[in-house]
Amino acid sequence: MASVTPNDGGCLKYIEDFLSFRGFETEYLNFGRVKNIWSVKNNGGPLLVFLGHVDVVPTGPVEKWEYDPFSGHDDGDYIHGRGAGDMKGGIACFMSAIDRLEDNLNYSIAFLITSDEEGPSKDGTVKVVEELMQREQKFDWCLVGEPSSISSTGDNIRVGRRGSINIELEIKGKQGHAAYPERVDNPLHKVGAVIESLTNEKWDEGNDHFPPTSLQITNMTAGVGAHNVTPDSVFVKLNLRFSPEISFEEIKARIIDILDERKLDYVIDFDLNAQPYSSKIGKFTEAVQEGILSVTNKSTQLSCSGGTSDGRFMAKTGCEIVELGPKFETIHKINEKVEKRELELLTNIYHQILLNLNVRAN
Ligand SMILES: [Zn+2]
Repeated sequence: MASVTPNDGGCLKYIEDFLSFRGFETEYLNFGRVKNIWSVKNNGGPLLVFLGHVDVVPTGPVEKWEYDPFSGHDDGDYIHGRGAGDMKGGIACFMSAIDRLEDNLNYSIAFLITSDEEGPSKDGTVKVVEELMQREQKFDWCLVGEPSSISSTGDNIRVGRRGSINIELEIKGKQGHAAYPERVDNPLHKVGAVIESLTNEKWDEGNDHFPPTSLQITNMTAGVGAHNVTPDSVFVKLNLRFSPEISFEEIKARIIDILDERKLDYVIDFDLNAQPYSSKIGKFTEAVQEGILSVTNKSTQLSCSGGTSDGRFMAKTGCEIVELGPKFETIHKINEKVEKRELELLTNIYHQILLNLNVRAN
């Protein structure tokens, strides 16, 4: 189904129908143009929420795809298509795992599925969680089905994510004729040293689960297009991924120090795209680790790497969060695909986790 963000492409109705046959009650919590479902099977006891998104990033040039990106082509070994890994694969595996369960659970299960994760993420999970918290809904455990595995299924799970900051920086100078250097103030000549300082800065060391904070220059533009004119300004875009070892405020202050030290004339705009989050490690994480070990015979590593995820919105509820899904190798790329064997394995792992929780919920 073509569900390019923020469209759900009919996926939510499909999931709703599947779940209603299995005793779930679904409510649509729509905000703006975005559809979200909150689907619950109430058995009493603690609540496990499966968090996911059906929206996908655009395909890019369709002619470069080996198969139609929305055909879900099955070549025998792989399912091809945009969203196969991120993250319809994970949702499908969790639905199959639910299907295998018997009706003797001593905890409740809910699905929170949005169609606004790959876009602005303003009317999706964040709003649904706010609404549910207002209703005093309690959350105990949250499984995020985002792709997390590195080289084998379940080898890596995430118990947090780094924060993200977007920065736009304008370094000002004075436009002029290249032949009269004494009459121009060329901002391009200043930007090199600034970039060197910013990219060499050690923001923090990270910690056991978080890699150190990192900064990337993502764009730089200047110039009027002529060889003999120096530019008035240089525009630089930066992105930082930060660990909880440093705050947004501290990063801001350190960048401003670097700029002020060089006595630059500049304008800077900081946009806090996402705060970092880290989950407590408790019996839910143990149930996941044991599930992976018993199905794959391999232990899993806990990390907080990768981009941002909607887990950060769930973190506000204080529940224990684990992100476990298929390999992320091809996500967002042309020819995204997921191995059928991996889907089977992930379903087995999810199923085992659900059984492990039945023991722990007491
Ligand atoms: Zn995703």
